[in-house]
Amino acid sequence: MPESLLEIEDLHTHIATPRGIVRAVDGVSLSVARGAAVGLVGESGSGKSMTGFSVLRLFPTARARIVRGRIRLASRDLLALDDEAMRRVRGGEIAMVFQDPATFLNPVLPVGRQVAEAYAMRHGWPRAREHAIEALALVGLPDPDRLYHRFPHELSGGMRQRVVIAMATVCRPLLLIADEPTTALDVTIQAQILDLLARLRRELGMALLLITHDLGIVAEVCETVAVMYAGRIVESGPADRVFAAPGHPYTQGLLASALSVEETRPITRVMEGTVPDLAALPAGCRFHPRCPFVMDRCRADDPPDLTLAPGHVAACWLHDAAMAGGPAR
Ligand code: SF4
Repeated sequence: MPESLLEIEDLHTHIATPRGIVRAVDGVSLSVARGAAVGLVGESGSGKSMTGFSVLRLFPTARARIVRGRIRLASRDLLALDDEAMRRVRGGEIAMVFQDPATFLNPVLPVGRQVAEAYAMRHGWPRAREHAIEALALVGLPDPDRLYHRFPHELSGGMRQRVVIAMATVCRPLLLIADEPTTALDVTIQAQILDLLARLRRELGMALLLITHDLGIVAEVCETVAVMYAGRIVESGPADRVFAAPGHPYTQGLLASALSVEETRPITRVMEGTVPDLAALPAGCRFHPRCPFVMDRCRADDPPDLTLAPGHVAACWLHDAAMAGGPAR
């Protein structure tokens, strides 16, 4: 059994809004083993990015707050750490890569200097330049000594994303959280960045939590997948098993969208409806307004995680009926 690195248990993250409390993360449990790659998949607004932000305790809004749950990294309780200790964890043991490198990089600082700063924040400036150049080379950027002095606007989108990945990995994190790392890039560059993440994972022994709307990307990079809908993980398991025999109607809808690196059709062309308002979740199963298999029970009772196979669970009453000996429809 691989050693566990990240353990999230019953995590609840709320955002206070004028409309009420948005339950952005609503009881998420997830684990990532050392060196493993886990894909967290769902539509926009499903809470997958907020799950990543919760791990780093770094939110895009000051109104977000973790209200319940546990987050452990290598057995350390991250929620018990004070702000200074958490700052050391960010960029040290855990790093994050975001969708759009253009907004992440400082336009008036040479890119090498920005990688060096990421190193210096944790280890100080002596040897920071040397480590930055090494990190730029590791992410496959040519002539890193000269590239160190170039500015973000002088680089292509793919090169900028490599710089951001160099910043994230210069301190050799145990876990990299990559949030839609290829969405802003064209198809050829997407494939190169995915290859890069897979190689870095192997060479640095780093675990990867890949947040994406694209099941095709997960199939290429991850061994395990967790499918998130309206703040909750509705299905999880070994990626090959989930793709071959999806147990939750939402996962089946995502797969029917057949998203891949080559083709990016919107999920909603295949699946009716949209993610519900997280400030006013429907009663019972939160997927029931969109579900083609909805039963009376689904409108009243929230389904628990039901085991389909070892390590493969889905929160859907259809499987309760199947285990009891036949469909309940
Ligand atoms: Fe559909 Fe019911 Fe399963 Fe929810 S519990 S996904 S509504 S069948």
